[in-house]
Amino acid sequence: MKIPKRETLNYWNPILETLPLEKLRELQVGKFRRIVKWAYERSKFHRKLYQEAGLKPGDIRSYEDVAKVPKVEKAMMRDIQRKDPFPYGDALCVPLEEVTEFRQTSGTTGLPVYQPDTWQDWEWWSEAWSTILYAQGYRNTDRVFIPFGYNVFVAFWAGHYAAEKVGCEVIPGGVLDTEARILKIQELRATAMMATPTYVLGMADTAKKKLGIDPARDLAIRKITCAGEPGASIPSTKRRMEEAWGAKVYDHVGATEIGAWGFECTAQPGGLHVNEALFLAQLEDLETGEIIEEPGRKGKVVITALDRIAQPCIRFDSKDVTEWAETPCPCGRTFRLIKGGVAGRADDITKIKGVLVAPSAIEEVVRYIPGLGNEFEVVVTKKGDLDDLTLKIEILPEAEGNREDILTQLKDQLRLKTNLGYNIEVHPCNSLPRYEVKAKRFKDLRKQG
Ligand SMILES: [Zn+2]
Repeated sequence: MKIPKRETLNYWNPILETLPLEKLRELQVGKFRRIVKWAYERSKFHRKLYQEAGLKPGDIRSYEDVAKVPKVEKAMMRDIQRKDPFPYGDALCVPLEEVTEFRQTSGTTGLPVYQPDTWQDWEWWSEAWSTILYAQGYRNTDRVFIPFGYNVFVAFWAGHYAAEKVGCEVIPGGVLDTEARILKIQELRATAMMATPTYVLGMADTAKKKLGIDPARDLAIRKITCAGEPGASIPSTKRRMEEAWGAKVYDHVGATEIGAWGFECTAQPGGLHVNEALFLAQLEDLETGEIIEEPGRKGKVVITALDRIAQPCIRFDSKDVTEWAETPCPCGRTFRLIKGGVAGRADDITKIKGVLVAPSAIEEVVRYIPGLGNEFEVVVTKKGDLDDLTLKIEILPEAEGNREDILTQLKDQLRLKTNLGYNIEVHPCNSLPRYEVKAKRFKDLRKQG
């Protein structure tokens, strides 16, 4: 077999990325059986789940059988983590000694979920991200700046390692403020960057207004990889970013519990490839649960990370809503495309400033603080290109004397529980709308412009 050269084809893995569909499905089913068997034999959680469904790993023989395997919801992961071994619980499939990486979900939709990975898993993360970066034109001639607060969230960690794996030179832009980051990008003539769309636009704004730097003219960034928000798949936002930076902007999609499973290529086909060599993604009808294979019909993504071993992600209900594209991508990859990326979520959880927020998380904080009235209102708007978040509250008359303390506590708790900053508006007591049955405390006005 003649193996094509990566350089001539522009694929990170020329064989896997162009496998004929039939072979690709065969590969996925084989790997799927393997990971289900792995979890069944090693995790109490998975064994119980499958036994209750009357399912044994050997029952999976075809692509159609995949949908017979019970789904895993995020809430189930929280229950698991109350069990041994600490702190991950009984979905862990390796001895604790083999866990080398700790990450956690943002916890904005409730308690954070911890994510253990082995070193092999971490290599796998890098491999998934290498596929993304190579497809977006990252090469060993690139100097990549990563303006990200390296912390317990996975965010761009794997992107950092992958950029090294691809051969790029990587500049970690950790605890620098925005101005310092821009100056570093200029000083080192960085050629590529990874950030959320909100931050990409915010940086451009800061560069112009505070430093008199026009990123498109004065900086050398020519590729930007986005994550965390759908912006890079929203044509108008993408255009604004590309114009502000004089760069190509590419989207990718992933999650802490799943991995980096989808990516845009340099053909910019108006959608994202699913990395079907490492993941098995199916679209499920939101009402009937039927598997959707045809284009043009929206469904939610139920996804398996085929090679992740410490805490397997098997048939995870991502709640991401999307649809299959009508036509294959001109880039030649056989990995299927989801049209328009991931545009929304199956429930009311919403992304603000790149962070997932459930209205219930805000409610939890407001009601946690003594001295605050029961009523509140959250209003999300757009200020220019950035999300603006206002929380309207009432302070009870008897607590007026502690006003400053209450506001400090509120801000701290909100940041802690939702990872976001708010404009706090104190309204006179009893002035915010009251509701009888269902409250409308969460007002997302961003779409109205
Ligand atoms: Zn493509």
